[in-house]
Amino acid sequence: MSRPRVVVVGGGVSGLACAHRLARSGEVDVRLLESAPRTGGVVATTLLEDRVLEEGPDSFLTTKPWARELACELGLESELVPTDAALRRSFVLARGKLEPVPEGFHLLAPTSLAPFLRSPIFSLRGKLRAALDLLLPRRDGADESLESFVSRRLGREVFLRLAEPMVAGIYTADPATLSLRATMPQFLDMEAEHGSVIRALWARRRTKEAARAHEASGARYALFLTFRGGFATLTDALAARLPAGTVSLGVEARGARREAAGFRVLTSSEEILADALVVAVPAPRAAPLLREVDAELSRLLGMIPHASVATVNVLLRREQVSHPLDGMGFVVPSREGRFVLACSFSSRKFPGRAREGEVLLRAFVGGARHEERVELPQDEIARRVLADLRDVLGIAGEPLRVLVSRFPGSMPQYLLGHLERVAAIEERARRVPGLALAGNSYRGVGVPDCVRSGEEAARSVLRQLAPAP
Ligand SMILES: Cc1cc2nc3c(=O)[nH]c(=O)nc-3n(C[C@H](O)[C@H](O)[C@H](O)COP(=O)(O)OP(=O)(O)OC[C@H]3O[C@@H](n4cnc5c(N)ncnc54)[C@H](O)[C@@H]3O)c2cc1C
Repeated sequence: MSRPRVVVVGGGVSGLACAHRLARSGEVDVRLLESAPRTGGVVATTLLEDRVLEEGPDSFLTTKPWARELACELGLESELVPTDAALRRSFVLARGKLEPVPEGFHLLAPTSLAPFLRSPIFSLRGKLRAALDLLLPRRDGADESLESFVSRRLGREVFLRLAEPMVAGIYTADPATLSLRATMPQFLDMEAEHGSVIRALWARRRTKEAARAHEASGARYALFLTFRGGFATLTDALAARLPAGTVSLGVEARGARREAAGFRVLTSSEEILADALVVAVPAPRAAPLLREVDAELSRLLGMIPHASVATVNVLLRREQVSHPLDGMGFVVPSREGRFVLACSFSSRKFPGRAREGEVLLRAFVGGARHEERVELPQDEIARRVLADLRDVLGIAGEPLRVLVSRFPGSMPQYLLGHLERVAAIEERARRVPGLALAGNSYRGVGVPDCVRSGEEAARSVLRQLAPAP
């Protein structure tokens, strides 16, 4: 008897993780459709001889285990490299000058008061206002925008000078509309539980220190890991381990219809019958695809906006840069009026990115508030990024190489009400037998969350296709 066929649309990390799990089950035949000429989606590594330039993601968080576990399962454990332990600090641009982010400042708030109080980033008034967090009455943990939460608890200064750029770098979102519940719910919970974010962070630090003190010498992973040869190591390995004939490149899914048992998937080159369908593309691309399957689901999917970003890799000789680059990189508050959102010191962050005597930097541009910048001509993007980097890092002369990479509509915006929208989408999708959704549009943007979403979609489909006992 032939095995059920599952079509997975989208060959980014979410679709690949899903197809991998499905193929490993041995219970179904898998076809993965990818419209681009390569797999990986926004995961893209460019090798310049022995240098490693990351166009998309450059590292992943290990506190969410799914990406690390998958890498280990694929035999890539020896390829994993941590960020340089000696340099675990970063900078923020303050009045045109790079200042270290105060030690212990955790995304939105300080975990240690002394470095925060010593920092030149904030005025005395701003510091006193932040300390008011210890006294202000608590709210009940209901959702709120990032801007409203930080301004209310820690004051406008902490928001404008540090929290906004730290978060803009991660979510490339407008903090006035970014849902805290959907992105960093721990802060709402901290307020609800401890009545103060600072007090909660202190308590958490004490617990962590205690846990660390008790921990034996067993292997502990660094907070961020990457792959020695670049992030595409993961997506290439996933694609390579799929059975021959699974992946169809350059094939765009254009629509789908429900059939008596399953789906008919319409592509740019053929029609494919499938018993189950996993849609692992950004929600705005999934919406038209599923219009004929379920119009309401399609409408809801169309309500999750996605912003465009660009990265610019800049390779230089070390002597061209006067800044000591003694950190991971810097973030830029919007009040500084710069073109770049953030910049990683890639060759300091990870080993083997550039040659001895060279420096590799990577700037971020665009995001929800500056999407138009991503549409500028590539040489204009490069020119404006270089102008900022020259000013901030003291760069002389022309770079050895500049690589501009654009990612239109790639960053989902988790706006206020996002979790309710996702719950409605999931509820609607559940009503269509054999359908599953995966990807970064729903419950997490980072690669570990994307891996988990792909694996969950595979499990859901396998459950539905399993013969009744
Ligand atoms: C510049 C940048 C930097 C990032 N940095 C980090 C980081 O350092 N760490 C981290 O954890 N996360 C990072 N992220 C987030 C993370 O990389 C992404 O959320 C994740 O890789 C998305 O994977 P995905 O498979 O869900 O989507 P995508 O990568 O967007 O893949 C979707 C795929 O579907 C294909 N497709 C779309 N429509 C169709 C169709 N109709 N038919 C067939 N194929 C179709 C597309 O071509 C694409 O290949 C970053 C993201 C960006 C853009």
